[in-house]
Amino acid sequence: MGKIAEGNAELLAVKICLDCKTKNSVNVIRCRKCKGSRFRKKDLAPRIKK
Ligand SMILES: [Zn+2]
Repeated sequence: MGKIAEGNAELLAVKICLDCKTKNSVNVIRCRKCKGSRFRKKDLAPRIKK
């Protein structure tokens, strides 16, 4: 169980720059590409569009 949770946490540990859509580590404060500071968390769960 622990291994699975760990793997998922790793996959989720990404945030997407709102400006250039670059994936950044959650550890970064600014986007590595455009230096922007606006992010959204990577949502790996499929969303049902309405
Ligand atoms: Zn960016």
